[in-house]
Amino acid sequence: MELSYLMLTAPTFRKMVTPSLYLQGKGAIYYLGQKALPFGDKALVVGEAIALSVAGERIKKSLSSNGIEIVGWDDTLKDCTHGTINRIVETHKHAKPHFVIGVGGGRAVDTAKAVAWKLKIPEISVGTQCATNADTSAESVVHTEDHRYLESIMLPRNPVVVIEDTEILAKAPVKYIIRGMGDALSAKFEAEAYAKAMQKKKGGTVPTSAALALGDACYKALMEHGVKAVTDIKNGIHSSDVDDVIEAVKLASALTFENTGCALAHALHNGLTKTGQIAGEHGEIVAYCTLVQMAYEKRPVDEIRHVEAWCAKIGLPTRLRYFGEISKAALRQAVEHAADKDEDSKNMPDKMKPADILEAINRVERGI
Ligand SMILES: [Zn+2]
Repeated sequence: MELSYLMLTAPTFRKMVTPSLYLQGKGAIYYLGQKALPFGDKALVVGEAIALSVAGERIKKSLSSNGIEIVGWDDTLKDCTHGTINRIVETHKHAKPHFVIGVGGGRAVDTAKAVAWKLKIPEISVGTQCATNADTSAESVVHTEDHRYLESIMLPRNPVVVIEDTEILAKAPVKYIIRGMGDALSAKFEAEAYAKAMQKKKGGTVPTSAALALGDACYKALMEHGVKAVTDIKNGIHSSDVDDVIEAVKLASALTFENTGCALAHALHNGLTKTGQIAGEHGEIVAYCTLVQMAYEKRPVDEIRHVEAWCAKIGLPTRLRYFGEISKAALRQAVEHAADKDEDSKNMPDKMKPADILEAINRVERGI
């Protein structure tokens, strides 16, 4: 096909991005070396201090038994900032690592992915808790030095290998899996909104049926296994429900959002956090904003109440007041941002009006 033809028409592509390998299970971390070996034998390991104190010895053992040399080790990660990314690149580039292994939560793997991108080498993720799906995604969320959101870097590829050792994840404090489920809850609803928006736009990249099916699978797993998984983790039981939820968060939710797009739930999350008047974790705020998106879309009341009851059972906030006092002016500012200023607002099928989002918030506040 000639380039001029491509430039004159808007080709409709179906695209799916994924890691090469996702490995989840008890003791999966011991397979890290074997699965990393096809990508080279010099590793740069970066992670949070706590994560590496938990998983570090097992990582060393697995790498050395496969003849992989650790040419760099940084366990000082706190936030994913440009300063940290550049410091790690400058410190370790002369050792010429063949890949970067990111160990920990979202900040650690986001940093590792950005470092790998700058060094033009693959990244391998090792999750140690379940609050995030960043281990699987090709995106790095960068913060300022004073911990505020700065930007999301869309990377050209996903981590090549994702290792989720469920023995480690199931032992992490329960708050992490609750937050992870809150974020993952949005995947199906935002993907469906995105698919409708792309149908209307006619052109560009359309979501695959596979990506939408993963959104459904994620939602089903959360509804069927979420409450039991939380109870089991609280009681120190590592059940198959816990494994099902880990897979929904780490694999299905990541591949859904990456192969479709975020929509009102994340746009409103971004609007609310920008006001500086609310306090809450990403997954907690996104779960609440998913209820708002459902109300905005005028989904059946029973469906919204079902999701709301599920949130309450697992310990996710269902009312705005859980995030602190927000003034009317700030709320107005948040919905204005969500309606059209935020990038994710473009993924809703119709141009949104701030008043309609506000009405959806009021419905959620009244219990629908
Ligand atoms: Zn999110």
